[in-house]
Amino acid sequence: SLSDKLQNVFKNLRGKGRLSEADVKTALKEVKMALLEADVSFKVVKQFISAVQERAIGQDVQNSLTPGQMVIKIVNEELINLMGSETTEIQLKPASDMTVILMAGLQGAGKTTTTAKIAGKLKAKGRKPVLVACDVYRPAAIKQLQINGEKQGVPVFSMGENHKPVDIAKAAIASASKNDQNVVILDTAGRLHIDEDMMNELIEIKEAIEVDQTILVVDAMTGQDAVNVAGMFNDKIGIDGVIVTKLDGDTRGGAALSIRAVTGKPVLYVGMGEKLSDLEQFYPDRMASRILGMGDILSLIEKAESQVDEEKAKELSQKIRKAEFDYNDFLDQMSQIKNMGGMASIMSMMPGMGQLKDVDFDEKAMDRVEAIILSMTTKERTTPELMKNASRKQRVAKGAGVDISEVNRIVKQFDQMKKMMKQLPGMMGGGKRHGGGL
Ligand code: GDP
Ligand code: MG
Repeated sequence: SLSDKLQNVFKNLRGKGRLSEADVKTALKEVKMALLEADVSFKVVKQFISAVQERAIGQDVQNSLTPGQMVIKIVNEELINLMGSETTEIQLKPASDMTVILMAGLQGAGKTTTTAKIAGKLKAKGRKPVLVACDVYRPAAIKQLQINGEKQGVPVFSMGENHKPVDIAKAAIASASKNDQNVVILDTAGRLHIDEDMMNELIEIKEAIEVDQTILVVDAMTGQDAVNVAGMFNDKIGIDGVIVTKLDGDTRGGAALSIRAVTGKPVLYVGMGEKLSDLEQFYPDRMASRILGMGDILSLIEKAESQVDEEKAKELSQKIRKAEFDYNDFLDQMSQIKNMGGMASIMSMMPGMGQLKDVDFDEKAMDRVEAIILSMTTKERTTPELMKNASRKQRVAKGAGVDISEVNRIVKQFDQMKKMMKQLPGMMGGGKRHGGGL
């Protein structure tokens, strides 16, 4: 799947430490392949990759992130951009007015099902929807709408098979006005492929009545075709938004990804199953994490970004590289870790870092560590080697009111931390790390 592929790409990035321009390009080549295989249109992929590349190369890697995380962050942000950064709702007129919604799409895309799903949502919001059976070519279609309407407790307007869809639509609107129904949803007939008759029928309806929202329903399982269909419907009849169905069965997600880019129209909802409750709001950011398959890493990045003081992190990573990490930094680092919710919570978000739970990072112990470090002289704090001296340990232990064994442990932990810090930049700031835990 796309997310597996991208995970692999990013795994390689993470293992690489600091990234060169060539690394970014190599990584993005993989991203490009992965997106193409996920049925994202070539044009969209090309635009996407160049947008990411433009941002990734030459941009400073934020101090709290590795270059790999930085690329993930940019890929994620650009994915969200691609899909339209905000959640969009179907535009409805005020409840005192009538809103007419035209449902369009190929046969089998999920129009009839989705019509009923939307009606349920509108009803829950206090609207009074009515479903209109404009698919006159398949007798079963009318029956299907009636059954679905009944399940949702929403009325269905139908005139059988012997009228033109445009006349049914007109009659339905007149009837809705009389019955105080304020959202009229027209369920139209699809065809197996784009064809003139279907388009003309829709155009005829749009010319005869005032359609407020034309919603296109496309099947995610058809991948790239769904995107082409969206482009064609938008060109021929004009659409206001798209609903992508059967996303429950599509692991690739490529269609949802490129529709916005190709049509300029938002994805409004996604169908996540056959049940009439399986219609979800479309969240571009969630879709991006789903595509990246790495929600945890993204939340870790956010956490790191918001909590770690950038300047301090920069200083620290320089010190680490020069192996100047001292007890003052240890103290600083600990308070930042505390702010981020503790080492265990940070580590648990990193793939393959579960084994770190064994490492002793008791948060209460952190307070004692603080007391011990504060009992050191300035010189001892900046010259950690001094703390290997037994009489200094004794003095500090007395000052902090702890047993000398605690001080011994801290000195050991400091060394451990220093070692870990040297490896951590591989994930957090740029050094080398060779897998297999710490
Ligand atoms: P229409 O021809 O466009 O009206 O499509 P239908 O509403 O009749 O749906 C065609 C088939 O797709 C039906 O079997 C639906 O149950 C199924 N379907 C619709 N939406 C979804 C969805 O989001 N997920 C799944 N798994 N099936 C869906
Ligand atoms: Mg139908």
